Amino acid sequence: MKRIGVMVLCLLCMLMGLLPCEAAVIGDDWQYLTSESQGKWKYFDFGSFQSPIPGKNQEVWLEVSMQPTEPWKNTLLFSLDGQAVEVFVDGSKIYADGNFGPQFLGHGKKWHMVELPYVPHETMLLFHLYADFPHQLGVFKNFVVDTQQAQARRVFAVDFPYVIALPVAVLLSMVTLMYMFNRPKQRCLNVKLLTLLLLMSLWTVSLSNVKQFLWDAPVIWRFLENFICYLLPVAANSIIVEILDEDLRLSVKRVVKGYAGLAALALSLELAGFDGLLVCRQLLYAAVLCLQAVVFRNLWEAIKRGRVYARFAMVPMIVMGVLGIADGVLLYLHFWRWHVYLLPLGIYACISFVVCMVREQVIRERELEAHAEELLAEIAATMAKAEMDELTGCRNRGAFEDFIRQKIAAGKEFSLIMLDIDYFKNVNDTYGHEAGDRVLYQFGELVRSQLTGKQEFFRWGGEEFVVYCPGFKREQARALAERIRHQVEVHQFFRHQQITVSAGVAQWYDGNDSQVGIFRRMDDALYAAKCNGRNQVVTE
Ligand code: GH3
Ligand code: MG
Ligand code: MG
Repeated sequence: MKRIGVMVLCLLCMLMGLLPCEAAVIGDDWQYLTSESQGKWKYFDFGSFQSPIPGKNQEVWLEVSMQPTEPWKNTLLFSLDGQAVEVFVDGSKIYADGNFGPQFLGHGKKWHMVELPYVPHETMLLFHLYADFPHQLGVFKNFVVDTQQAQARRVFAVDFPYVIALPVAVLLSMVTLMYMFNRPKQRCLNVKLLTLLLLMSLWTVSLSNVKQFLWDAPVIWRFLENFICYLLPVAANSIIVEILDEDLRLSVKRVVKGYAGLAALALSLELAGFDGLLVCRQLLYAAVLCLQAVVFRNLWEAIKRGRVYARFAMVPMIVMGVLGIADGVLLYLHFWRWHVYLLPLGIYACISFVVCMVREQVIRERELEAHAEELLAEIAATMAKAEMDELTGCRNRGAFEDFIRQKIAAGKEFSLIMLDIDYFKNVNDTYGHEAGDRVLYQFGELVRSQLTGKQEFFRWGGEEFVVYCPGFKREQARALAERIRHQVEVHQFFRHQQITVSAGVAQWYDGNDSQVGIFRRMDDALYAAKCNGRNQVVTE
């Protein structure tokens, strides 16, 4: 526990930039010179968060004394917002960045690392600055002389919250993107969530110090850093609109419009050259405080109605709202020497929402799968029913034709027996059609009792049946047909009338045969049995 406390403390120290601001070698005799100073240098308090230069100047010269120190502590680190800079030591220019004049969207925000030449005696460090706005002139966000390594560490240390937030944002974006292709019904929610996550990712990059290595475009990065702030609540609340019931949506839609209006106002002021994105920032934090209360009320109502998404959206909504407002307060109080935003850490609270979305998707997939299985079972049952002869329980002629086509294609040995009940018409005529049906049913049972599991039994139509005998030569099939014939002969269907059956047997000769051929031979054999007096088996 104690160790965790120490770690958290170290982390906080690191984040707050509690590292010394003023380098030991730089004096505190800062003086400025502007066009209004009539050639006279004037002392001022260095390190203020407001511009120390009075008047409406956009250009200034700053001067401070510098003592010699260890030659390896020769790197000056400072960051500027909206300013172009030139640095001189001992009268010669050692560093310059940005052009001294107005430019579209200003000069951006940038940190600078300057290698100071070693001078063995006290000398003057001179800065020439040009600012987009007078309130920015002469404001250094950080100013330290140290070894190059220590400066690099300083630059990266403040990136810590962004470094741990960015991979999560990217990962969640990928998951959301994946599910976007999966589920068209929820696409709108997915698109909005993906937009928020991508904005968070881009914003996190724009806040970091490392971005300067990726792309040295301070104007664009500053614009993104300041503008995305306004877009985040628009994107986040659009997601909430998507998950609420119709009656709760309206007021949240208005909230979204409110944020969008504020973003538009800030952007127009920025484009008009009034530093609108920064000027409207306080308005934004005040809006978050008021408008999120409305969103909270509606989300709470949705939770009471049992909406799952609302439950999982509440956590990120509260966390991000609180972090956003905390950022505003800390920024206003100049709490960090090198401002660190906490809001990117809110991405961790979004995990619950994305997990909820994936969970809902998985549940739905499972339901669909179960439904598909039910449908397949239904289709199979319907197909089986379509192939079945209800009276005898045999498969019908259609099924037989499909079946025999497959067997012929397989090229295995088999024989067929065709059975035809003798004088069946007489049975119908004598005992009635229903009695005829009972005979057909009993005949089916009787034949089945003579077959093994390998043989297949079909009703060809009327009182005619076919038995498929796999692996049988015609003599074996004949023996089986004979057994069936005998069983029918001895079975007592009626007290006073015997029922008999005639059978024709044919064998399949693979490679030298056809479906029409074997059917014809089987039919001829049956015809011969009928002609020879019935109640007998004839082989082709
Ligand atoms: P053969 O010995 O030459 O085969 O004479 P048969 O009377 O059996 O043959 P025929 O083809 O003249 O008559 C078949 C009869 O089978 C005609 C028809 O009424 C009857 N039948 C066909 N299907 C059914 C059925 O599902 N139920 C009943 N009860 N009779 C049927
Ligand atoms: Mg017949
Ligand atoms: Mg018959």
